[in-house]
Amino acid sequence: MKEKLIFDLSREGRRGIRFGTSDIPSGPVEQLLPKRFLRQKPADLPEIPESEVVRHFIRLSNFNYHVDKNMYPLGSCTMKYNPKINDYTSDLPGFTSVHPLQPAFTAQGSLRLMYELSEMLREIAGMAAVTLQPAAGAHGELTGILLIKKFHESRNSNRNKLLVVDSAHGTNPASAAIANYEIVSVKSNAEGRTDIEDLKTKITPDVAALMLTNPNTLGLFEKEILTIEKLIHENGSLLYMDGANMNALMGITKPGDMGFDIVHYNLHKTFSAPHGGGGPGSGPVGVCQKLVPFLPVPVIEKIEENGNVRYSMSMDKPESIGRMMNFYGNFAVLVRAYTYTRMLGPEGARRVSENAIINANYLLSRLLERFELPYPKPVMHEFCLSGDRQKKQHNVRTLDIAKRLLDYGFHAPTIYFPLIVSEALMVEPTETETIETLDAFADALLAIADEAANNPELVLEAPVSTPVKRLDEAHASRKLNVCFFGC
Ligand SMILES: *Cc1c(COP(=O)(O)O)cnc(C)c1O
Repeated sequence: MKEKLIFDLSREGRRGIRFGTSDIPSGPVEQLLPKRFLRQKPADLPEIPESEVVRHFIRLSNFNYHVDKNMYPLGSCTMKYNPKINDYTSDLPGFTSVHPLQPAFTAQGSLRLMYELSEMLREIAGMAAVTLQPAAGAHGELTGILLIKKFHESRNSNRNKLLVVDSAHGTNPASAAIANYEIVSVKSNAEGRTDIEDLKTKITPDVAALMLTNPNTLGLFEKEILTIEKLIHENGSLLYMDGANMNALMGITKPGDMGFDIVHYNLHKTFSAPHGGGGPGSGPVGVCQKLVPFLPVPVIEKIEENGNVRYSMSMDKPESIGRMMNFYGNFAVLVRAYTYTRMLGPEGARRVSENAIINANYLLSRLLERFELPYPKPVMHEFCLSGDRQKKQHNVRTLDIAKRLLDYGFHAPTIYFPLIVSEALMVEPTETETIETLDAFADALLAIADEAANNPELVLEAPVSTPVKRLDEAHASRKLNVCFFGC
């Protein structure tokens, strides 16, 4: 299974499409542009007929693994199926043709969509206001941390520490560091939840905020959240929720009710927009009342005057942290999330979370037969197994098990994260999988556990059925070369 680069498929003179001759005289254009911006020779583009372009990319897409092919149990990433109607609406010409520099009165529909999406998100998390600007979860974290900074500055205090629990996603300490905070790590206890005694010793007058993920990255709900909230707020600090795991909470409970001051959402997780290669992301941020004045500009506002409603983008927010994005966020993702949330309605949103939790617990109950669970169940929407038994007894590591899953036609779960679990194997099935798919995945993992015991070579040499066989991962990260050929 090999595929040439599109440049190697090129043959001089082949064309996919022929344009008519331009009726714009070339002279004036060249006079308008400074000479240094003019191309000296034609761009070196591949010359390929349309049929070969289509086949090339279809072949590549078949090498790839994606959620339209099979279950994608990547823990913490919420790789749920992305309903196609989201793509249909985001492709409507009224949305694709709108330009961010158009006067607001000519883009009322788009502004209304953004306003209503932020209202739905606000309601789901129980916050006072939401900005849709940030382009991803980590960007939402940075936005939230800049809001924390601005809040303390507005009270003439320059607290320089952020508390982060040791099970947190790596983006939490990374975002805190980018905003110039000193990071203090808080321990997890034997149950996998925040260690309250350790937390107490780390709460000092220079703590600006605690960043907490709830449910945490082990899929466990922080049962002591109200105690934590009290400790943090009594210290004059703020409470930040990494809401990437909102798939477990919708319609059941709200971060605002738990006392969180700030929460970020991942529209490309909970709200069914595709991840990564499927397009850009979106990481809106919700805040409590006292942080509203600091939200990024522009702020989308609904104005009701003489019985008329209009929407505007206000820059007139003197205390704002400023812009977090050019224009206003990744709009096409917002259209997808809006469609999804409207299609669900409040009842549907609750069923999403209930089924995400049921699916995770069902799958876990099947896997406990052969795998260790380091922290006690029940879990919320995901769980974290350990491959310690397989490693100790058969010298088969979690990495090997993950590779072998590819031969069974499944994407691997998240592995070696969170860092507090050795040989971690972190699974998030999401609500969009049927019981038949969950059973097929469980059967595959149980079969691999058998192979590890009886025929470990099979697992150690995997994958054998993929376009690319086992890679030397250390080599790839030490000798980085992102070009395939000729460089
Ligand atoms: C995915 C995730 C993030 C980061 O979100 P990105 O959109 O990838 O930047 C942060 N925290 C948790 C718990 C996550 O799962």
